[in-house]
Parts: sequence; structure tokens; C-alpha cells
Amino acid sequence: MDKSKIRNFSIIAHIDHGKSTLADRILELTKTVTKREMQEQLLDSMDIERERGITIKLNSVQLEYKAKDGQEYVFHLIDTPGHVDFSYEVSRSLAACEGAILVVDATQGVEAQTLANVYLAIDNNLEIIPVINKIDLASADVERVKEQIENIIGLDCSDAPLISAKTGLNIEDVLEAIVSKIPAPDDANDQAPLRALIFDSYYDKYLGVVMSIRVREGVIKVGDKLRLMASGAEYEVTEVGVKTPKIVKTGSLEAGEVGWIAASIKTIKDINVGDTITNAANPALEPLDGYKKMKPMVYCGIYPVDTNKYQDFKEALEKIELSDSSLVYEPETSQALGFGFRCGFLGLLHMEVIQERLEREYNLNLIATAPSVIYKVFLTNGEDIVIDNPAKLPDPQKILRIEEPFVNVKITTPEEYIGDLMNLCQTKMGVYKDLEYIDNQRRVLVYDMPLAEIIFDFFNKLKSISRGYASFEYELIGYKESKLVKMDILLNGDMVDAFSMIVNTKFAYNRGSQLTKKLKELIPRQNFEVPIQAAIGNKIVARETIKAYRKDVIWKLHAADISRKKKLFEKQKEGKKRMKEIGSVEVPQEAFIAVLKLD
Ligand code: GDP
Ligand code: MG
Repeated sequence: MDKSKIRNFSIIAHIDHGKSTLADRILELTKTVTKREMQEQLLDSMDIERERGITIKLNSVQLEYKAKDGQEYVFHLIDTPGHVDFSYEVSRSLAACEGAILVVDATQGVEAQTLANVYLAIDNNLEIIPVINKIDLASADVERVKEQIENIIGLDCSDAPLISAKTGLNIEDVLEAIVSKIPAPDDANDQAPLRALIFDSYYDKYLGVVMSIRVREGVIKVGDKLRLMASGAEYEVTEVGVKTPKIVKTGSLEAGEVGWIAASIKTIKDINVGDTITNAANPALEPLDGYKKMKPMVYCGIYPVDTNKYQDFKEALEKIELSDSSLVYEPETSQALGFGFRCGFLGLLHMEVIQERLEREYNLNLIATAPSVIYKVFLTNGEDIVIDNPAKLPDPQKILRIEEPFVNVKITTPEEYIGDLMNLCQTKMGVYKDLEYIDNQRRVLVYDMPLAEIIFDFFNKLKSISRGYASFEYELIGYKESKLVKMDILLNGDMVDAFSMIVNTKFAYNRGSQLTKKLKELIPRQNFEVPIQAAIGNKIVARETIKAYRKDVIWKLHAADISRKKKLFEKQKEGKKRMKEIGSVEVPQEAFIAVLKLD
């Protein structure tokens, strides 16, 4: 293959700026998919992605483009997610590319994740092509956005394509810019020992583990014996190909190319995304640079509703981990919920998505506890321990001090919301750091605050205060001491470990009373009275009571009400699936994450 004709690139953007729509137009224009095959946002293949309109998993596709210079080019387009939780996936896909298309919404301008993604692209030495999208909208302000990109990011926008991914306007300009601006991998050497980066993987029933790879040097073909440099495992390559986006078998991949390989691998733990593949017969000496491994920030316990499903759940986690190496988990047990796993996630959305995938793709019924961060606890006996589960916090008299993770939060917002957003940050224990100017309408508000406070509904509040216009990103800055206590919840007199939370003493009473109120709403009446109490140590700080339901009510229904009653029963049966019997009380799933919805 003529390597001067290869272009490997990603599309990066703040969420909703039109990355997936642009990818669709590119596929259409290059006739990679016919109009008939075209489903909107083709690269967003996971059900959850389509429903939520977000891109979670990266996906790569090979396409052919006949440029204005009369030459045929081969593009590898790697789609990336836009949400801050998934920046790990972004850095993975960028490591496989030479260039990135930076999509900026002409009505919104540069936002928090525009910048975060640009930094990742710069880290990977990529050529960045700014593209201004949504110019079909009346509120598009192309000049202002160009200025922002030039001032804040420092990219020249004088010949940036001005497009509408929706209507298809000027998409060709983007393709031509890819040809003329993004470097070809033409220094890639086919004769060198094989070095290929694994940037994604998933499990296929027939093929075993399928790995997405970028070949940096050498050639890989069917029949080769490959070696995974980190685990040392060796396998014979059974299939090699590309995605167009259909799976196409090519038999081999050369230096500079992006594609997939399978090797009848059933041992999932041998495969690490980020690892380098080499040829066992002629191995490379050094692996490729991996990329920055992200550390989980948020932990929660996940348990199968049906305790017999523990094994299925375990296998499902192993398979999901294969395509999402940022997920971590280890077994844990809860008095209330039985056997499950404590799972670590990059953020809240990541947590929700994994739970949803586990349930849909593996047909499981799961209960998740409220998320928690990792606390460092210094004990009076000189030991220090790390706590990822509030229920495990030792008694207060054994604790010298507790430290919690703090993050530096950058909120990008139109000027008019600054006052309200500052109030929000203040109530979240934020420490004001800075107010930066982007242009005469936009500001960046900078605060340090506990990560735990970001988890507790920060995102929704920020969006509602700013009518959706503000965005934020955060970065861990380290651990700091805080005055924290454990609050327990007692249901019918029994402590429910899955409800325990660690709170700032400043919030303890307030959150205790809000949480008991919320639980009262969420837990259905039982045929006996159920007290709900919030306790710090032995001290009860709040109490509510769920009244018993009156048995006679149901018998008083008239014939006309029968169908209504039946519907009610059906509904209850639906709800039952998500109920967990704790002691003698039935508790719905919502109750375990109620704490997230407190004010
Ligand atoms: P992503 O999150 O960056 O992948 O963004 P999407 O491609 O999912 O687009 C977000 C929303 O913006 C969708 O509702 C698109 O239909 C819409 N959109 C994308 N490009 C354009 C455009 O050029 N013009 C208009 N009017 N809407 C667009
Ligand atoms: Mg998308």
C-alpha cells in the first residue's frame, strides 16, 4: 500500500457540538455507507449511545476518498466520546492517529471539553484542524468563535472549514483539509519488527477477543504468532481486517494502518488495552509508549438483585472490562445486599453507563449503592488506611483525621450566570481561585472543591442554573483534611450498610433530614410501620416514619376499579424486580441513590 495516501484521524469536540453528525456526513460523502444503509449516527452503535445521544465507545472505520488532486486516499476515522468521564477513551483513540478534527459549535464557541480534548491532542503531537459547525443556525457567530479558537487555543482559523454537519454544507472542505494538512504515516517501516498498539478490544462469541490496533512498524498477517508484550502471552493470528464499518477481512495490516485482529483468545486477562503486540518469531525490543492510564474517581457497590446471579455478574464484569479498561472492581459483601463488587469509575456518567450496559447486554438485574470517593483515614494507632466504602469507616474515637480528594474545577459560562454559579460553588464547600476571561461574553470560573461534592448532583445543578449553557471539567489536585463523619441509616431499627455515607459535619444534620424524607417517599408502605432514622454514632439526627398501609382499602374497591387495580398490581410486579428485601422491608433501587438527588 502507498502509505503517502493514508490519513489516520479522530474527531474531537465538546459534547453536542456535532462530532457524530459530522462522522455520518463523512461516511455518506465517501460512499462508505449508502444512503439506504445510513442510520443516523452510525458510529454510535451501542443502544445507550443512541438513546442518550452521547458517544461512549470509540469506534474506527476505514473509508476511501478521491480528492480534488485526482488521487485516492484511505482514511481511518476513529470516533471519540465528548464527555469528560470518557477522556480516557479519547486519549486511547488519539494515540492511534496523526491528526484530529476539532469541531466547534458556531453558536456555543470554545467550551470546557473543547479545551480538554485539545490538550490531549497536543499531548499526542497531533495536527489539529479546527472546523466550525452549525453555521446553518441563525445564532451562529462565526467571527467570534474563530477569534476564541485563535486566542484561547492558538490555532490559525483563517482557512478553517465552515460547515453544517446537519445539512451537509462544505463537508468536502473538511475532507480536503484532512488530505492536505494531516501527515501521512509514510515513515512507517514495514521491514522493522512488528509493533502494534492495542487501543480497544471486545469479546466476540465466534472470534474470541477482537483487538483494534494501530500498526506502527512491521506487518501482521494471518498465521503469524503474536506476542502481547505486557503479559507475554502468545497466540496465532486467525483473522485480520478493517471495518468499513462492516467487518472486512484483509488477511494483513501494514505499518501505518488501523484495523482489527483476532487470535481465538479466550483468556481475557491476557489482553490489556494500551499494550503492544509484536511478532514472537522476530520480537521488537521495546514496547510502544502506552498512554496515561486514568484512575477511577468514584466508587460504588453493585449487587445482583437475585443472589444466584453472582457468577453471571462476575463474568459480565470481566467482559465489559475488556472493552473498558478504566473500570476496576473487586468483590465485596454487604449485610444488606449480599455478595457483589465494589466498582471504580471515572465519573458518574461512566458509572451509569456501565450499570446500564451490564443490565442490558448481560440481562442482569442490579442494585447500585450511592457512589463514594476514596478517603484517606489516619488512625490514632499510627496506621493509615484507604476507604472506598463509607460503611467501612472505623469508629470516630479511632480516627485522628480524614482527608478527602479535592479537585480544581473550571466552569465555562456566559457572564450572566456567574453570580448564581458562585453561590452554587460556595454551598459545595468550594474555595474561589480565579475568574478568567475568554471574550466579552464568556468567563471561566475556577474553584477548588471536594470531589465528593461534584458527585452529589453538581452537574444537574450547574446545568439548571445556567439553562444548559455552562460546562465544566475538573482535575484532581490532591488530598486535604476535612471534618467528616459517617452517617448511618437505620430502617426499622436495623442499620443498612449500603446506605451509609461520609459527610462533612457542616452538612450532616441537613442531609440526614433530607435523606430520611426522601427515603420515606421512595420506600413503599409495608403492612407494618417502618421508622427511618439517620444516625451519627449513637446519636439520631433525623427520623421519619413510613405508615403501614391499611389492608381494608383494597376491599372497598368497586367493580369499575378492578381494571385499575389490576394495572396497579402489574406495575407493582414490574417494580418488584428492582426491589431488594432488607430485613423485612422492601426497598426499591432508587432509594440507594436517593442521596444523589438531595439539595
Ligand atoms: P456530538 O455529541 O458532538 O457527537 O454531537 P451530535 O453529532 O450528536 O450532535 C448534537 C446535536 O446537534 C444533534 O441534535 C445534531 O442533530 C445537532 N447538529 C449537529 N450538527 C449540526 C449542524 O450543523 N446544524 C444544526 N442545526 N444542528 C446540528
Ligand atoms: Mg456523538
